[in-house]
Amino acid sequence: MASANSVGTFPTLTTGFPVAVGQPPAAAGLTAETLYDKCMALARNLWWSWHPEVIKLFSDIDPIRWRQLDHSPIALLSTFTPDELETRALELVLQSRINQAYRRLKEYMSERPTWACTNTGVLGSKPVAYFSLEFGIHESVPIYSGGLGVLSGDHVKSASGLGVPMVAVGLFYDQGYFKQHLDADGFQQEEYIDTKVENLPMEPALGPDGEPVAIEIQTRTGPIRAKVWLIRVGRVPLYLLDSDVDGNSAEDRELTSRLYGGDNRIRIRQELLAGVGGVRALKALGITPGAYHLNEGHLAFATLEVVRECMHEDGLSYDEARRKVAQHTAFTTHTPVPAGHDRFNGTLVEEHLGPLRDELGISYNELMALGRVEVNDQNESFCMTVLGLKMSRRANAVSSLHGYVSRRMWANLWPGRTEEQIPIGHITNGVHIPSWLAWQMHQLYDRHFEPHWIGRMGEAEVWQNIHNIDPGELWETHHALKNLLLAFVRRRVSRQCRRRQESDDAILAAQNLLHPDALTIGFGRRFATYKRADLILRDLDRIAPLLNDPDRPVQIIFSGKAHPADEPGKQLIRTVANLRHDPRFANRVVFVEDYDINVARHLIQGVDVWLNNPRRPLEASGTSGQKAVLNGALNLSVLDGWWAEAYDGVNGFGIGKGTRHVDDAIADDRDAEHLFRVLADEVIPLYYDRDVDGLPRAWIQRMMNSISSLAWRFSAHRMVADYVHQAYLPAAGGTSCDMGMR
Ligand SMILES: *Cc1c(COP(=O)(O)O)cnc(C)c1O
Repeated sequence: MASANSVGTFPTLTTGFPVAVGQPPAAAGLTAETLYDKCMALARNLWWSWHPEVIKLFSDIDPIRWRQLDHSPIALLSTFTPDELETRALELVLQSRINQAYRRLKEYMSERPTWACTNTGVLGSKPVAYFSLEFGIHESVPIYSGGLGVLSGDHVKSASGLGVPMVAVGLFYDQGYFKQHLDADGFQQEEYIDTKVENLPMEPALGPDGEPVAIEIQTRTGPIRAKVWLIRVGRVPLYLLDSDVDGNSAEDRELTSRLYGGDNRIRIRQELLAGVGGVRALKALGITPGAYHLNEGHLAFATLEVVRECMHEDGLSYDEARRKVAQHTAFTTHTPVPAGHDRFNGTLVEEHLGPLRDELGISYNELMALGRVEVNDQNESFCMTVLGLKMSRRANAVSSLHGYVSRRMWANLWPGRTEEQIPIGHITNGVHIPSWLAWQMHQLYDRHFEPHWIGRMGEAEVWQNIHNIDPGELWETHHALKNLLLAFVRRRVSRQCRRRQESDDAILAAQNLLHPDALTIGFGRRFATYKRADLILRDLDRIAPLLNDPDRPVQIIFSGKAHPADEPGKQLIRTVANLRHDPRFANRVVFVEDYDINVARHLIQGVDVWLNNPRRPLEASGTSGQKAVLNGALNLSVLDGWWAEAYDGVNGFGIGKGTRHVDDAIADDRDAEHLFRVLADEVIPLYYDRDVDGLPRAWIQRMMNSISSLAWRFSAHRMVADYVHQAYLPAAGGTSCDMGMR
């Protein structure tokens, strides 16, 4: 599967859901009569989250409450009685829009034939079970922390769009990930907030008997129990396990409270629940997957439970069952640093997997060997990625470069093979276009692309029409979005100042922050040190004049959280955020707190340049730059992850020459220097090179190059189609090969 992005042709995408899995989506409460019922039905399927006209509808009902309630339609609707809502809909003349949105959802849920009907025949009626520890679908459903979760969300949305039969499995975190505030010193404060379950589009998942599903897992120290929730993401049901149930110890009731919030013991229990518990939940729901897709090593325990099922139900031996399960399993690794892979000691593994191991009839050493590179090394801990690689016949990294890095990293699992023979391929990540494309940009494309282009968004030809758009029109649209971004930043930063009880002057300054005509660079991502948020700020005396050039000003908007345990990451945030106290940077560098899907959406839709400068090759893929592409921002990025295969010299800007250095300090110096040069010599001159109409012609040309060459190629529709062809179909269809792994 080492041929990701070899997707010159892409079939016409019409959509539909060919199979019934578990609860048939058509039965998803779509029998509404009143306007209130219809709004609720819309709110209860996250399909609305990638339909701008439905989002607009909710927002029009009450724009202020909509914002205050974190864009949660159920929370919004719950503030009205049905009668009040009817009255309001009449006042605002919303009836026909509500009716139309509702009709479109119904059509979507029953539409056929689908792309999948003609392309996933062998999957038949058996869905792909997609396992992930986090899902970033919308900011109002806070069960994600960052890139991995957003990727899972986009994957599921595109699977829905393509009609790929899929069920998704994860955990429900009632406190999700933390909310970030900075104190007066710029230190990150973490706040965990209880999510109001009643405001989520979530309901108990019901088994074939109509009863809520519950599961139980034995450990050496007692059982862990969980209930199961259902969230509808278009046509894909997402099942979330939740340990907050009667019968669990107080401690275990909080097991799924927080994402990445605990120690190693909590971690292994979460992964046991998601993996083994997830497989049991599907069983209890009456769902028989045709293939399993494990998104990152966290979920690898699932394979052991499937082996147990096969032994128990099909009478297979352990070895036969293991081969069969590997045949049906695809595994995706995301982490290019060895330390980033989950490892557990033998005691934790035996405590939690012991009873399952008894049922498999294997010894402690045999179990541990499944998670070890050196199977006989008693000192080696149990690695979830190793388990994933050993228990799946198809494994992939998430960009071409990451594939290369992963094959080298895990070469010892296949002794005697050359790098090319290591069976880890790559499928480069992509983003769900309707979720990230600004409504205004969508409108522009609608005017100039062929009708129904959105149904063919994974095809290259569709996007070539961008070159026919009037440059002035594209630039105007971009500027409108940039102004929306600046309004958002001013609102957020002045709120930050108010929270810190700063002076009226400070608040007033925040309300007038930044300038719409200045070249605006965005940097939004996790503040991990290898991402080097401060690279552009390494030499303040050198960058200050560049940012403050009266004729060619530059401003930078930063946003991002550091992991609660990452002190150096928090220090980075502090460094960046406190520049506001330096007059040279007060109106040039801003930090927007609490990076999430909402902040990300504003940033990638409004900036001129999206900056990404990780230490190569530590960025497995990165996806935020792909979102920026859709909206006309230009990437300025180290040639790492997806950008290493995307950059062609005229569709953005590259930092560095695609090489690495063994010494981090030298690499950092070199990249900082190159970033500065590219900025000063290429980016700024190109941006400010205006024609008589004030248009930066060459810049706009580059925007068009970026959109036409990258939007389709780094779309989640292309990504999911690659998974279908390279992973799901082979996994479901029974082609087999011996990977000869130890
Ligand atoms: C897209 C996205 C990410 C991932 O982007 P990277 O380029 O991998 O950093 C992380 N967090 C949020 C909220 C996103 O929307």
